[in-house]
Amino acid sequence: MSNSAISPSSGLTVVVDEHLRWLSRWHRAVFFPTESGLEGPDSAPMPLAFAFWVRQVKDSDLTDQPAVDRLVSLHEQLHRMARLVLMRVAEGAPCSYAAYESVVEKFEEFIQQCRRFEKAFSMAGSGIDPLTGLRNRTGLHEELERELNRFRRMGKPFCVAICDLDRFKAVNDTYGHDSGDRVLVAVSGVISQGIRNFDEAFRMGGEEILILLKDANLTEGRQVLERLRTDIAALPIHLADGRTLHVTGSFGLAEARLDLSLTQLLDRCDQALYDAKRQGRNRVVSHVPSPA
Ligand code: GH3
Ligand code: MG
Ligand code: MG
Repeated sequence: MSNSAISPSSGLTVVVDEHLRWLSRWHRAVFFPTESGLEGPDSAPMPLAFAFWVRQVKDSDLTDQPAVDRLVSLHEQLHRMARLVLMRVAEGAPCSYAAYESVVEKFEEFIQQCRRFEKAFSMAGSGIDPLTGLRNRTGLHEELERELNRFRRMGKPFCVAICDLDRFKAVNDTYGHDSGDRVLVAVSGVISQGIRNFDEAFRMGGEEILILLKDANLTEGRQVLERLRTDIAALPIHLADGRTLHVTGSFGLAEARLDLSLTQLLDRCDQALYDAKRQGRNRVVSHVPSPA
């Protein structure tokens, strides 16, 4: 698949380096404006690499986009606060300790979040989704191709399913993004423990998980998914503030066929998932093949 997991991480190293240089310049402009020749609110302008990096990751399907949005807003706050201090200094007012501290705190928070992203990207490059521990999309296509070839050679049936959490946006909106993350971790745990060792689960992005059930026909696949569905619905998810939450998931299931390409098989899963949502969610819908 794409190597988009690698370049955003190296882009972040540049962002961090630039911001370290920017902070030194800002310090000089605040405390020694005349000696350093760095006078005025524009003497420590916002570095450019971050905007570049954001444009790059907005196209990456391996990125947790809400987390990118939070980093963007942190970055804006940092530079707004820093510029405000420079404006006061330019007007002849000394920099207050509180204003100085708040800029430095924002700076530290920004760098810390950048480092987290760097770590997440390097793990993503290794094929593991850092939040859930499931496999990410890297290697998904190859794994499905391999199974399809096995089916064609030896006639071993297999199923593919997509699980999508129900009304997950409302979970984030009501309980916060961190609680949403907890839900993803808990549900992923149920799925990875509920499938056999040789089955595979991939986080496709967001709250969608693809499950590859090897050596299973539609009836057998359905049984596994029904069990996963009830286990997820019964799972108490404990939030950081002590509250407990329950969620449900919808599943779209399809069985491989000799006359189907991989894309067609995945389209059938998508269609079945769409039907599961339309029929009221918290259910498994399988794509029923028309008679040959
Ligand atoms: P539906 O039942 O139709 O699937 O509704 P939904 O709200 O689950 O569907 P939608 O696709 O509109 O919302 C998916 C949400 O998943 C939106 C996005 O904020 C959230 N999301 C995506 N990735 C992450 C993540 O890594 N962490 C958290 N907490 N939320 C995420
Ligand atoms: Mg979704
Ligand atoms: Mg959903």
